Amino acid sequence: MSPLIDSHGRTKRKLRISLTDRCNFRCTYCMPEHPDWLPRKSLLERDEIARLARLFVAQGIDQIRLTGGEPLLRRDLVECIRAIDALREHGLRRLSMTTNASRIAPVAATLVAAGIDDFNVSLDAVDAAVFQRLTKREIAPVLDGIQALADAGASVKLNAVVVRGDNEGEVVPLLEWAMARGLPLRFIEYMPLDAPGHWRRDAVVSEAEMLAAISARHSVESLPRESDPASPYRVDGHYPLGIISTVSHPFCATCDRLRITATGELFTCLFSPVGTPLGARMREGADDETLGATVRRAVWLKDAGYAARPGPVERTITMHAMGG
Ligand code: SAM
Ligand code: SF4
Repeated sequence: MSPLIDSHGRTKRKLRISLTDRCNFRCTYCMPEHPDWLPRKSLLERDEIARLARLFVAQGIDQIRLTGGEPLLRRDLVECIRAIDALREHGLRRLSMTTNASRIAPVAATLVAAGIDDFNVSLDAVDAAVFQRLTKREIAPVLDGIQALADAGASVKLNAVVVRGDNEGEVVPLLEWAMARGLPLRFIEYMPLDAPGHWRRDAVVSEAEMLAAISARHSVESLPRESDPASPYRVDGHYPLGIISTVSHPFCATCDRLRITATGELFTCLFSPVGTPLGARMREGADDETLGATVRRAVWLKDAGYAARPGPVERTITMHAMGG
């Protein structure tokens, strides 16, 4: 089948699948303090996830990232990974996971053996008090999780969202902590995807501000941009740093991603006001051909993205339910 392409000429290669909207953290930039969880029955079953993943791989998706909520809260996580790992013979090249890592230590080696190629771990601060303020949880289990992943020989990258007034003072300490351990790091500008009415433009610490803070202590060289959403930099001549600056420099023109929520809604853009309910269509009995045609139409209609209409989106779904 020909690859998934939208009317702006962007080919889709990457799919993020949210395994659950549940999370054991309460990151202030991601979800309301008292979230309403989705009804359990509405979450996709493992077979449904595997069927959708197969459908997308058949249409040219070759990289899948499992996310959430917190994917580690999914009881059948290992079976979900194995079911998707089986798609390698159909064209899947990479299977990844984004996690807060707080519960990963006991299962790190199992997840690698089941098929996860690389992990993105969210770590927004190395100072325990700052971490606690942002996530409402303790840092120690996360640091243990990062160590367990390293011990399991996993490939790990760190992600840090930077919010003014919360953790902008952590930019340099986080960088130096990650550099000392040889862990690649990406800073992420705070996006308007949290609890409605929470995000403020002036809470966004821009890529330029982060670079200014880092440049005061380190040499920073800008590298040519590739298909990754992060602008790449080389720090002190050797260390790879990325900055995802969706707000100050949207990368919509080269976006190759799609997202499926935990209930099976297809969001062609992180900022789309509505999704396409593939999960509901599956449960109504749609066959693969009908689902495939629904996906192709939704992808074709993908709009220009955040670059075309910056600012908060009017919708009920927040980041923990969307999957980041
Ligand atoms: N629980 C997992 C974790 O924290 O890594 C996976 C889900 S989380 C929604 C996925 C990513 O979205 C994380 O890297 C998180 O930092 C990021 N994220 C959440 N809310 C965000 C926001 N408002 N702006 C920018 N990134 C955000
Ligand atoms: Fe949970 Fe991840 Fe959202 Fe934090 S960023 S609340 S860990 S889903």
